[in-house]
Amino acid sequence: MQHQDEPKQAAEYLRQVIPMLSQQKLAPTPINYSVFYSYLSGNSQALNEVVDSHISEKKTFTLALMLELYEKYINGAASLEQQEKIQHALEKAMADASEEIQHVNSGADNYGCSLTQHAQTLSSTDDPQAAAMILKQVMQDTRDMVKNNQEIQARMQETNTEIIKMKAELEAVKASAEKDSLTGLKNRGAFDKAIDSVVYNSNKVSSVLIMLDIDHFKRVNDNFGHLVGDRVIRYVSALLTQIIGKDHHIARYGGEEFAIIINNQKIDAAQQFAEKVRIAMSNSKLQRKDSGESIGKVTVSAGIALLKTDDSVDTFIDRADTALYQAKETGRNKVVIAE
Ligand code: GH3
Ligand code: MG
Ligand code: MG
Repeated sequence: MQHQDEPKQAAEYLRQVIPMLSQQKLAPTPINYSVFYSYLSGNSQALNEVVDSHISEKKTFTLALMLELYEKYINGAASLEQQEKIQHALEKAMADASEEIQHVNSGADNYGCSLTQHAQTLSSTDDPQAAAMILKQVMQDTRDMVKNNQEIQARMQETNTEIIKMKAELEAVKASAEKDSLTGLKNRGAFDKAIDSVVYNSNKVSSVLIMLDIDHFKRVNDNFGHLVGDRVIRYVSALLTQIIGKDHHIARYGGEEFAIIINNQKIDAAQQFAEKVRIAMSNSKLQRKDSGESIGKVTVSAGIALLKTDDSVDTFIDRADTALYQAKETGRNKVVIAE
């Protein structure tokens, strides 16, 4: 596990990434950002060796190379963590931008003070030449103030646009990194993170885990082919989303197995969700889309466990898994609740 960069340090890396990207004539895409960010933070020695040798040999950083470096050194287990670091850096950059706004305000305050001072001097002088000098000074101060403000505003506008764009891009990368490509549900990586935070959350709420698996799925593949099998997996996924809804964490745990975290609900609610899915599947008459040929009855089994205070991630998953195993052993097309 890598430690979280301090926000200030992270913002510093981010600041250095931007000139580095422009030096290498690379667009500020999330992938390019991530690679150079990771380089600057020195998280991966292997990545730094590749980048250093490219820089010293004055080789071009092509898009293909950046993608390769991203896939190889960043988009692994650490990918989400990396994106979070950039997110923190962005937040810091935004805080800095808001500090700049305060500078603008204090600039305006200074200008206000100097105007008051000039007005006082003006009211206490009878010398027309001195008055003319003061007026000239006021005009100069005003021109400086307007110019300064315009420059700061343009800079702020630029920073702001950039930050908004980067945030949106990062959100998109983060969402796609958490998504299972076949079903659109959360993927295994996202589930691992979610279950970790549920189990190790200090103010534990009532959480329930459902492990749900398609029965005799191998037969579907064997009889109708892998593509039809994929469609069945997608069908079950859509049903889960429809019945359980977007408030809960629905993930594809592996092949034809799903893991669902139901938060803030008692075990009965989770049992009802699982039963609804089970009944819907057992009543469904699936057909091949191309030929209309019947696929027969496809059923699912589920195991449900309620989080206990002394649970670890492993014991929590194990209990749901054991209940799922019991459902399979005792005839399938069943929902079993763990003890
Ligand atoms: P059980 O009722 O005990 O769960 O039996 P099963 O046949 O469903 O379980 P088993 O684990 O024996 O087989 C699961 C099969 O799922 C094996 C594997 O080829 C298939 N599978 C895994 N991932 C995918 C996928 O993404 N698409 C398709 N079509 N098949 C997959
Ligand atoms: Mg199965
Ligand atoms: Mg399985």
